[in-house]
Amino acid sequence: MTAPEARTRTDLLSLPPEEAEATLARHFATRDQPSYRTEQAVRWLYEGDAAGFGEMTNLPLAERAALEDAFVPPALPVARVDRSRDGTAKHLWRLHDNELIESVLIPAGRRLTLCISSQAGCAMACTFCATGWAGYRRQLTAGEITAQYRGARAWARSEGYPDISNIVFMGMGEPLVNRKAVIPALGILNHGFGVGARRITVSTVGIVPGILEMAEMPEQYRLAVSLHAPNHELRQTLIPVERKYPLPELMEALRAFERAGGKRITFEYVMIDQVNDHPELAEELARQVGEFNALVNLIPYNPIPGREWVSSSPPRLRAFAARLEEMGINVSVREPRGRDIAAACGQLRADAVEGRTAPVGV
Ligand code: SAH
Repeated sequence: MTAPEARTRTDLLSLPPEEAEATLARHFATRDQPSYRTEQAVRWLYEGDAAGFGEMTNLPLAERAALEDAFVPPALPVARVDRSRDGTAKHLWRLHDNELIESVLIPAGRRLTLCISSQAGCAMACTFCATGWAGYRRQLTAGEITAQYRGARAWARSEGYPDISNIVFMGMGEPLVNRKAVIPALGILNHGFGVGARRITVSTVGIVPGILEMAEMPEQYRLAVSLHAPNHELRQTLIPVERKYPLPELMEALRAFERAGGKRITFEYVMIDQVNDHPELAEELARQVGEFNALVNLIPYNPIPGREWVSSSPPRLRAFAARLEEMGINVSVREPRGRDIAAACGQLRADAVEGRTAPVGV
């Protein structure tokens, strides 16, 4: 049975920062506390690492207890942490209903990128992605999204990593089919935690209404689009949602996004040997994205259980990249990170960790 307070407690990390502050101010006012208590709690929330109200050591014990009664703890319990040989670190977070999600910290020089999840599982069923294979569980709340940032930041600080410089919505799930939580979470990360909008990237499989909604936002959040194929026929074999939002519609939405101003688009293209890496596809891709001020990010395919595909060989990848460049396209190649702990792109499938979903057939 759920404790009654668990149903009524407010999750501060789900609220826009000004509302969280107002809520705390009301809470302390009803308890006849001085107004600076609000400031203290707000600092703990956005700047501090306390895993629970009990650790907010400059508040009186009675106030810590009262906060515990009124609010959801601002941290998710860690079910497991894995650290790769290359410094990449994967957190498995346990949600209040025992669902599991993952986030990944990826250090690169002085940069530290945090990759976060927007759903438990994913319903998109892209054929090359382990998250999709493991199935869909549920939407995350804004608080469950922002708590990944807050918790990963605390861990990174305690382990001597640099400050988190970038956040990418490239973990589990399709962020633009959870706009109800993702859009508020963007605001909380930006205005509450102070992460610059241009340092936050939403990666989408191509959900047209979501792209149009992002185009309308005043903040310059970045958009990455998982393209993976330059034509409808091939793309629909990799990404089922291509049938719902076919390429011409997707391109039209991206034009609207670009017209909205100053927002560079990244096209992600996973390189699967003999599947989507033929030289003539590079030319078709260049024609498809050439009209945008875009970057094509080639991602070597990370192996997932149950699929015999392999990554394009380095020469094949270089040839594909060179062809794009010859046609005037900006290209980068994503270095695979954290493969040894199944933390690389497409490898996240937290539910399988506890064997709750049937293992993907090998
Ligand atoms: N649903 C969003 C974000 C999650 S995936 C999206 O589709 O963009 C983040 C990136 O990893 C996407 O570009 C996705 O296509 C890519 N990816 C998925 N499986 C992969 C794999 N096995 N190897 C390499 N990249 C993969």
